[in-house]
Amino acid sequence: MTPAGRLYVVATPIGNLGDVTARAREVLGRVAAVAAEDTRHTGHLLAALGISRPLVSLHEHNERERVPALVARMQAGEDIAIVSDAGTPLVSDPGFHLVRAAAWAGIEVLAVPGACALVAALSVAGLPTDRFCFEGFLPARASARRSRLAELAQETRTMVFYEAPQRLADFLADAAVACGAARRAVVARELTKLHERVYHGTLAELALRALEDTDLRRGEIVVVVAGAEKTGQQDGAEPGRVLRILLKSLSPSRAAALTAEITGASRNDCYQLALQIGREAGAETPLE
Ligand code: SAM
Repeated sequence: MTPAGRLYVVATPIGNLGDVTARAREVLGRVAAVAAEDTRHTGHLLAALGISRPLVSLHEHNERERVPALVARMQAGEDIAIVSDAGTPLVSDPGFHLVRAAAWAGIEVLAVPGACALVAALSVAGLPTDRFCFEGFLPARASARRSRLAELAQETRTMVFYEAPQRLADFLADAAVACGAARRAVVARELTKLHERVYHGTLAELALRALEDTDLRRGEIVVVVAGAEKTGQQDGAEPGRVLRILLKSLSPSRAAALTAEITGASRNDCYQLALQIGREAGAETPLE
């Protein structure tokens, strides 16, 4: 009986052809077929590498129907590679259904690792990477995006997002409201490419920059947002920090109004928190 073939999950460059690995070249050069998100795009890549192999289209709209035939080919002994348009397949890209079906059919699935935009962005962001979470693309609809950001506001791990350039300014403004204008973040644009640039700042600074700088309306973008500070008190952690600073020189009602504006928390909650902070500090004079 012919031994089953293997499925190779092959990462390709995210912009710079020099990032293709020697192993990716070797595997792509010898498999029976390459399942590709966009056969034209992968055809150009293979041509640039001096490789000619049969291509099978496998994208989000046809993946489920293509899986049985590809699994049958591997069961008959053929090695197959899967690639996406850029970076690592399955990371905000097709491939999950094929990998799952192959693994469940007992076919060996092997990683041929390489470029991945989220890891590249994290590696240059200068934010903690010991723990992080990847959120991929948030919903394009503003209300759905805002509610997901509100859910993430107290996440203490560094957060990584993919975002389309035309939505970047809105994303950063919404993130500033949800997580606080002063939260640190990084926008990594066109990584490994000619116009590569990494912008550091607070969410408010970056939101402003995204509105003003036309370069930020083009190209490919990863946003990395610092996690919420660990305070031991998850609810209201960010408003509390802002309030403590503002209460040094402002009245509780003024500090609460500004904190609500900066953090997106409710004005009344901020006012109650301001009174609580005042009580904890043992304020001798009446607050207002
Ligand atoms: N599978 C890919 C990976 O491993 O990163 C990601 C595919 S996803 C459909 C494409 C998104 O990844 C882009 O919209 C952008 O957010 C991000 N991306 C891809 N290449 C990039 C680059 N060179 N610089 C910055 N972000 C990039």
